[in-house]
Amino acid sequence: MTLTASKEIHWPLDPPDIRWETVPCNYCGRDDTRIYHRERLLYFGRPLVFTIVRCRHCGLVYTNPRLTEHNATYLLDASQDAAAIEAHGRAKLPVYESALDEIEALGKGPNDGRARTLLDVGCGTGHFLEAARRRGFEVAGIEPAPASARYAREHFNVPIYEEDVFAAELPPDQYDVITAWDVIEHVSDPRRFLQRISRWLKPEGILALRFPSAPWQKIKGVILHQILNSSWPSFGATMHLYFFSETTIASMMQTAGMDMVHAKTTLAEANSQNAYINQMKKASQAALRGIEYCSGKKLGNLEVYGRKRPHNDESTAQGEGAA
Ligand SMILES: [Zn+2]
Repeated sequence: MTLTASKEIHWPLDPPDIRWETVPCNYCGRDDTRIYHRERLLYFGRPLVFTIVRCRHCGLVYTNPRLTEHNATYLLDASQDAAAIEAHGRAKLPVYESALDEIEALGKGPNDGRARTLLDVGCGTGHFLEAARRRGFEVAGIEPAPASARYAREHFNVPIYEEDVFAAELPPDQYDVITAWDVIEHVSDPRRFLQRISRWLKPEGILALRFPSAPWQKIKGVILHQILNSSWPSFGATMHLYFFSETTIASMMQTAGMDMVHAKTTLAEANSQNAYINQMKKASQAALRGIEYCSGKKLGNLEVYGRKRPHNDESTAQGEGAA
């Protein structure tokens, strides 16, 4: 999902001008980095070189400089036909069901007989919302891409706020659970994003995030670009801006008044329209599990769960200005 400047993009989509911006570290505010990786990617048919940097002070990994119109390729993907949208959403269902199991295990599911509210930020086609509703959650979504938002409303009859998360005005302390699957890497200001979401969570509510982890993108980048000399994307820096590790996401959650309570690696969904790519994804996933088993380290995409601190906890950050 895209979270900034969606209103500035013309619809149907025009190839955007290439404009770059440089940003300081989103966590510590400093501007002191080393190069983490470089990748060459096609952006609307034009080859561009992207630099991924790592902050020398806090370790946050991010694309810098980055495209000002970094959400354009996402919106292009989101404008696919209904059949492609359907296939993309359905392919993620096993990951979604597994995440709902985790949420129930953390004591925030309606399976204990209590009513539970859930907001999915960047809900796309609404397949996750439908899966959550089947388990008894009262659900709502935020999705700024028009085709996906329309699909979610028409197929699942779920309430969707069709707007940017930074523009959405929701009451504080409203949700038991907020989820954002494959979203935070697209966000221009993840620190503010987490503070905003935290405000909408009830005290002790659960935030669940899924994102491509920095160490895993680096391993893939080395294999693809330096060993195989491939131009296949690893970081996907045309639209991905931030790459967290378990450590950096835990720190960022802390600034928003949340403590990380659980982290795990997730299955890679085979959601491409290209069967060959899907087979490659499944094979790489099997290899990854083998490496994880042998090394004892967490690799792959990360799924993390944070719990909002109670309001009487003095270390809880309040509001978006508390950074
Ligand atoms: Zn930093």
